[in-house]
Amino acid sequence: MHCTHCGGEDLEAGVIAEEPHGRAGWQLDKWYSGPPTTTKWMGVLTDAWRRRSGTATVHRCRACGHLDAFVAEVTDPPQDY
Ligand SMILES: [Zn+2]
Repeated sequence: MHCTHCGGEDLEAGVIAEEPHGRAGWQLDKWYSGPPTTTKWMGVLTDAWRRRSGTATVHRCRACGHLDAFVAEVTDPPQDY
């Protein structure tokens, strides 16, 4: 694996996370198929429950800071909606 920006090979793996309310832990941001559909007033993804999704692993280039994101496993949405 190498940085697609500078060609460097010193990539550091991580994930995108969002600080939740409370101390339970950090919610990982997931990747969702399809274009964003957001409500005008809240700016949230309203139909995430019926999209394919997966946790994004993000690799940061130590040389230039560029991020490359990968979603290795994608899960189908539940069929009982
Ligand atoms: Zn780089």
